[in-house]
Amino acid sequence: MTFKELNIAPAILKALDQENYTAPTPIQEQAIPAVLAGKDLLGCAQTGTGKTAAFAVPIVQLLSSRQTAGGGPRRIRSLILSPTRELALQIAENIEAYSRFTRIRCTAIVGGVSQRAQERALQQGADIVIATPGRLMDLIHQKHVDLKHVEIVVLDEADRMLDMGFVHDVKRIMAMMPGSKQTLFFSATMPPEISKLAGSILKDPVRIEITPVSSTAERITQSVYKVDKANKQKLLAHLLQDPSMDSVLVFTRTKHGADRVVRDLAKAKVTAAAIHGNKSQNARQNALSSFKNGTARVLVATDIAARGIDIDELSYVINFNLPNIPETYVHRIGRTGRAGMSGTAISFCEFDELPYLKDVEKLIGKRIPEVKEHPYPMLQLQTPPLQGQPSGSGSASNKPRQPKPQGQQKPRAQSGSRPQSNTGSQSNSSSQSKPRPYSARPRQKVER
Ligand code: AMP
Repeated sequence: MTFKELNIAPAILKALDQENYTAPTPIQEQAIPAVLAGKDLLGCAQTGTGKTAAFAVPIVQLLSSRQTAGGGPRRIRSLILSPTRELALQIAENIEAYSRFTRIRCTAIVGGVSQRAQERALQQGADIVIATPGRLMDLIHQKHVDLKHVEIVVLDEADRMLDMGFVHDVKRIMAMMPGSKQTLFFSATMPPEISKLAGSILKDPVRIEITPVSSTAERITQSVYKVDKANKQKLLAHLLQDPSMDSVLVFTRTKHGADRVVRDLAKAKVTAAAIHGNKSQNARQNALSSFKNGTARVLVATDIAARGIDIDELSYVINFNLPNIPETYVHRIGRTGRAGMSGTAISFCEFDELPYLKDVEKLIGKRIPEVKEHPYPMLQLQTPPLQGQPSGSGSASNKPRQPKPQGQQKPRAQSGSRPQSNTGSQSNSSSQSKPRPYSARPRQKVER
């Protein structure tokens, strides 16, 4: 299948050719004809599948073909809603590339930067607006945005939109557009709330599902290192002694955690940058650029900040913390091994994260090979007692093996400085002490 066979107009074909898109990806093959036919769409697909072009290319084509030759102000005819600024900017970048040889204009409306330039761009007129819900609502209230002429709306990463608490804004924004519009709805996961939202706004949609989340992980080499929390940083620095790990995305649970990892890597003379919601838009863009141009070897990110970031040729993902939502693991490791390339995902699992590891393995339907030969093996085999409680219940066999004080553990004699691949010994939980059963699992806070 070629883009030409999908009836893409010559001006867009030329732009795709410049982007080196030789053939459509599966989601593009399925979505482009449906969108060109004016259908609503429900796409279950994640970043990395080519979903941006799957909706953006036919939108540019439809709007171009409906463009009137003569005057009249340019009106917003397509609105694309994205949960994060980075994703919005990336979509805008892609649309600029795809529409390079057309008369379509697009602009991004995102928070975290001055509003002035966005107001000016809107005054000059844009056919396509790519926006995060918060800033868009501000500009709507200030009457800088009129959505009454929108013909096609896209909700991208709807599950994240929900996670981030944008669902009410989204519903309000949807209500400001004509009822006759075409709606394209994308979500990486389809929990019941998302299905419900989709059901309430889509009309007889074409459904497309690309690589169910659990199968994405197949082409990626995965391994897990069980390690005490206090030694994770040392293990990271140890693994990064391998110079072949030249472009590594590290995920942390919290923004502070991300900053801490960057600081400690600097001490270990590893160039790293952090990207998370506490950073200004400029700082995030700088971090991303320094990672893309190779100045920073490591990019440390929280989940939401990393979502949608378009980084080519990323060969390593390291989970400094395992996520409590197993699908998040699959999204994270899906950042590597894109477009058929192979990738490596390494996870650090501390004692409290063992249940998360189990959940992930259940989702992906296989054990993640454990690398046991490393200098910082997990010593904590039981949750430390709460303050004021007796340690252990008396029986010697129940007594926890006390870990050495944090930060004091000496590395074991090293068997080589290269990180182990998944050829290491397989996890054998029967030989491990069983963790105490967990009654309640803390939910991680969603970070923006
Ligand atoms: P996305 O899922 O939209 O974030 O796209 C993932 C990456 O694949 C981006 O770097 C796109 O530029 C690239 N891409 C999208 N479609 C194609 C295609 N048909 N051929 C080659 N690369 C593509």
